[in-house]
Amino acid sequence: MKIFNTLTRQKEEFEPNDPLNVGLYCCGPTVYNYAHIGNLRTYIFQDFLRRTLEFNGYVVNHVMNITDVGHLTSDEDAGEDKMKKGAEREKKTVWEIAEHYTQAFLGDMDKLNLLQPKWKPKATDNIELMIEQIKQLEKNGLTYVGGNGNVYYDTSKFENYGELAQLDKQELRAGERVEIDKNKKNPSDFVLWFVDSKHGDQDMQWDSPWGRGFPGWHIECSAMSMKYLGKQFDIHCGGIDHIPVHHTNEIAQAEGACGCHPWVQYWMHGEFLVLKADKTKEGAKMSKSADNFLTLNLLIRLGYDPLDYRYYCLQSHYRKELVFDWSNNRSESEGLTGARIARKRLTQKVLNLGNKEGTINPQYIDKFTNAISDDLNMPQALAVVYELLDDVSISDADKLSTIKKMDSVLGLNLDEEIIIELPPEIVQWIIERNEARDKKDWAKADEIRDKIQESGKWICKDGVGGTEVVPK
Ligand SMILES: [Zn+2]
Repeated sequence: MKIFNTLTRQKEEFEPNDPLNVGLYCCGPTVYNYAHIGNLRTYIFQDFLRRTLEFNGYVVNHVMNITDVGHLTSDEDAGEDKMKKGAEREKKTVWEIAEHYTQAFLGDMDKLNLLQPKWKPKATDNIELMIEQIKQLEKNGLTYVGGNGNVYYDTSKFENYGELAQLDKQELRAGERVEIDKNKKNPSDFVLWFVDSKHGDQDMQWDSPWGRGFPGWHIECSAMSMKYLGKQFDIHCGGIDHIPVHHTNEIAQAEGACGCHPWVQYWMHGEFLVLKADKTKEGAKMSKSADNFLTLNLLIRLGYDPLDYRYYCLQSHYRKELVFDWSNNRSESEGLTGARIARKRLTQKVLNLGNKEGTINPQYIDKFTNAISDDLNMPQALAVVYELLDDVSISDADKLSTIKKMDSVLGLNLDEEIIIELPPEIVQWIIERNEARDKKDWAKADEIRDKIQESGKWICKDGVGGTEVVPK
């Protein structure tokens, strides 16, 4: 099995420390709001990775953290506290916010058919562990206390700093331009423990040797991964946005504390999902907040099945940017509709094979295995499924057994299909109602809402992305 290692920028043969067991750590969500479908694309890629490893016979010890403290809106220790911001927005406590959005995220994972990690540690349950790691870093001479009392990591003392991101000294200096924290010795230094922050009335605070406060964001991942996977492990995943700061700092913490190098053998990063508005329809206003914040539930309310989105992601390689088109009236994505149609047809073809199972075809399984084992070439793997379905020399029973085996990686539930679709007239009403709302024609918007609800089957409400309709 070959995977692309961000550390070396090369596709490498995968050789885990232990020939059977693989340690896999994935940076989890910050639970202050719903996950964006762009975030979810990263978790879908990680699910393909986990399923591919298991398909190839490995036992995967999969860990994903839940960030419920210490993450400011900027990765560089600036901006607002994300959890506090969520609590203020919804007039709840930070603990309530954390619980609500953790459950929402785990629900999204289930809907997308993502296998749940074996361990899902919360940052707030592991504060002692983080304090221990900071103490170790202090002992190793890698920290200093700023004039504000915060504990900083002195990145100039860590020789390999920036190796993952291939940051050179010049790029690090470039960071000075945006630097606002005068307590730092070097622009790339970061906070390990906050005692003094502008968020003085922070609900989440703990005692520490440096004073009462809370941990920086990065420390939780280096501390908690070691708890579950040991000092060194095989694969660490995340989105590409984590490379320059979060993962770079995780390495500095882990290697700085334990003295081991490399801490992680393989780093894998998923590319972004890019939103593109439909420019063909003139005059329709684009709501920026709605445009930039698409959730899985919004797609569901518009009649898409979460597995349509899974299929959509499957069609493109995880290291390629994926464009998601989004119509001006906020009711549809042509790409996602295409994925829905394709998935529906594929499922129908599999259902048409009947219920009788035969034997797994070794040639097709080989082809499929080669595709997924080539740095998760899922588009190629999907092509193998279609090729098999079209092969008249193979019996339906053998096809079914072979596809079921392949679906253990694809995760499309190809042999069990249930689709709830919004009727076309409801979709039309959603479009009209969004237009009325854009023109601030509230009377018309209310009238359309009543029409939708009078059908007796649907509930119509206002959401972040405009009109939302859910079955009663
Ligand atoms: Zn992390």
